[in-house]
Amino acid sequence: YFSPRLNRVARGKYMLEAELRDAVANREFKTHFQPKIDFQTGQVVGAEALARWVRPNGKIISPNTFIPLAEETGLVTQIGEQVLEAACESARIWMQEGFNATVAVNVSPRQFQSSDLTETVLAILKRTGLPPNRLELEITESMAVSEPEKVARGMRPLRSLGTKLAIDDFGTGHSNLSILTQLPFDVFKIDRQFISGLYSDKQAPAIVEMILGMAETLGMETVAEGVETEAQEAFLRRRGCDQYQGYYYSAPVPLDRFIHMLNEDRAKFAATAS
Ligand code: C2E
Ligand code: MG
Ligand code: MG
Repeated sequence: YFSPRLNRVARGKYMLEAELRDAVANREFKTHFQPKIDFQTGQVVGAEALARWVRPNGKIISPNTFIPLAEETGLVTQIGEQVLEAACESARIWMQEGFNATVAVNVSPRQFQSSDLTETVLAILKRTGLPPNRLELEITESMAVSEPEKVARGMRPLRSLGTKLAIDDFGTGHSNLSILTQLPFDVFKIDRQFISGLYSDKQAPAIVEMILGMAETLGMETVAEGVETEAQEAFLRRRGCDQYQGYYYSAPVPLDRFIHMLNEDRAKFAATAS
């Protein structure tokens, strides 16, 4: 028998699942964009697309709450497709406005298991008119090492068209070095925990330097996640990290706000160039 509390928890989850189904049907997911900054130039070079669930009552639910349930129920395939479409559509608008900005989209294990992710991506690129080299896909390190062949097979056709593949939350997935070098990755995204530990944790600076050194040897790009302070930004720039994102520059913002930032950034650079 169930205790009243357990019953309540089970019922809550059941209700959330039903609402998540409705949300997929009603397209209640909104995509926010977090700017990515190039360390060398200081310019905005792209954004990561991050899903938000906006309930009919206006309440916003974080992906940390609904993505795990979406993965469990398989709904993440449809949610991921809606986010991908919105992200590609947005990046095409940036291109039309004359910006050289790329978009990075998170992809779930479930989406790679359904072998048609490749087809889905190709169809969305075609439908939105976004050139494949303006799209980057992010896969968490733990997923990448658990299914290396599937990831490699699914990515091959996309990579040959110029779509980049990034390892998300790098440093947390216990990957084995020989698998890493066999996977078709272009970018390491250094996990936020190492960035936040740069000035408080003894090992974090050494781990970050090791990842940057390894990336250089392997010819990969590096993006630091969750940069919140000037000191973290300065450390990473000195050590040759390529790009960063984080509250230090901006939290994720809605599309119109991101386009506004691109325009401000362009005006700032035009002013310093003249
Ligand atoms: P992620 O891909 O590692 O995304 C980075 C997360 O860090 C985002 O959380 C972002 O808002 C947050 N963040 C960025 N800068 C800072 C900072 O300076 N400090 C702190 N404390 N946090 C920062 P968010 O948007 O809540 O997303 C959480 C996770 O949910 C993402 O982690 C990603 O794994 C997943 N996710 C989000 N959107 C999607 C999606 O469309 N599909 C899939 N499969 N997963 C998604
Ligand atoms: Mg990500
Ligand atoms: Mg991450």
